[in-house]
Amino acid sequence: MDTIVALATPVGRSGIGVIRLSGADSLKIARTLVRDHTFNPEARVATLRQVYDETETDAIDQSLITYFRAPHSFTGEDVVEISCHGSPILLRLVIDECLRLGARMADAGEFSLRSLANGRMDLTEAEAIRDLIDAQTTAAARQAARQLRGEFAHELQPIKDDLLGVIVVLESALEFVEDDLPQIQLESIASNLEKLGSAVAKIAGTFQAGNLIREGIRVAIVGRPNVGKSSLFNALLGSDRAIVTEIPGTTRDQLHEKFTISNIPISLIDTAGLRETTDTVEKIGVERSRRTMADVDLVIAMVDVSVPATEEDLQILESVGPTERIVVLNKIDIAPQRVSAFRDALKERLSTPTPFVDLSARTGAGLDVLKKSIVEPFSPVDVNSSGFLVSDARHYDLLVRSRDEISSSIELLQKKASEEIVLVGLHNALRYLGEITGETTTEDMLSHIFSTFCIGK
Ligand code: GDP
Repeated sequence: MDTIVALATPVGRSGIGVIRLSGADSLKIARTLVRDHTFNPEARVATLRQVYDETETDAIDQSLITYFRAPHSFTGEDVVEISCHGSPILLRLVIDECLRLGARMADAGEFSLRSLANGRMDLTEAEAIRDLIDAQTTAAARQAARQLRGEFAHELQPIKDDLLGVIVVLESALEFVEDDLPQIQLESIASNLEKLGSAVAKIAGTFQAGNLIREGIRVAIVGRPNVGKSSLFNALLGSDRAIVTEIPGTTRDQLHEKFTISNIPISLIDTAGLRETTDTVEKIGVERSRRTMADVDLVIAMVDVSVPATEEDLQILESVGPTERIVVLNKIDIAPQRVSAFRDALKERLSTPTPFVDLSARTGAGLDVLKKSIVEPFSPVDVNSSGFLVSDARHYDLLVRSRDEISSSIELLQKKASEEIVLVGLHNALRYLGEITGETTTEDMLSHIFSTFCIGK
């Protein structure tokens, strides 16, 4: 394997920047960098050295160098980590020097891919590292850390073992038993398969919550101009991000921000006010708002209770369509006495049952209730107290396929189909589970997965 190099820390000015080399020539390259061909650092111990490039006689940096001898390294190969001062120019110089000395720039995820190839970790663990780096909330980071500790692979292992056990029984029946398998044995195989199918389904069932932690909920706030959309946007974010004015039509384009409710990431969009308009810029904004509504998971449709509801308010509420929606009655601080009549009038006109929340975006009254109502329809379990959750769509898809193969094998078994036919489905089921952990994943699939990693990981 050739030797690869990459910056392992983010690009930009920082206290330190770490360059990582992996491959047989790592130590040789490090020796040239420190201009000492007898440099033989103790493994896993950081050593302070002057680092040189080809041209200068003076050192370009003083760096901490750590050597990890194969196979006791992240990739399973010889690895050298060079912790330089975090100057982008200097880091570029050192990387260029490594390239000149025979290393090659690493592809995205190539360190992790080598680790997988060398049996240092399974695919779910490699993916967990990516997810940990990409985590947007502490709950997502915790889930990734559990996966990194091997929890997912650990849960799958007994299922794979038992499935293999069933396959072996059927294979040997095929080989050695002249007649059909006795009914009692068929029943026991079917009941084992039922158990395995439910175990796979149970793990797959955690995906809704797992995916919620990872992908979060996209929420748009819509309503007529001046009902208080930007004020709510700011109140939810806890900062003055959107401009709040009394002049209708101020938010002409959309604002996007992220925040969390109970550890669930929320992407919030403040749309331009929805109204018929002749202003071209505003028109584009309004058109975009309509498209956004079709694109999000939840729409907060806002009305202003301090003025009578208009036909436009109703049109907006109805135009939300099949998306989850919450109607927010805003400005209750100035018109508390009108709220219930306002709500009843709207309820009467709406064709589908819709939750209502009373709010004052100005005082914050009702904000906590609104936050709860935002996550409630999407959160089947408390994502913060549940066990391991499947969060990767790839894993979910493979689990579902495996469960389906097991179910159809049970049906075939009950219809007394030949063992050969039943076995095809069970082999598929086992292969799908193996693809999750990487044992049976094809090269193409692996390069696709690792292309989603960052360079230097
Ligand atoms: P948008 O056009 O829908 O984004 O509305 P803004 O958030 O810009 O608010 C329009 C006006 O209503 C501003 O003067 C806000 O201060 C005011 N406003 C917004 N929410 C409330 C509220 O809950 N109570 C009161 N009294 N005024 C509000």
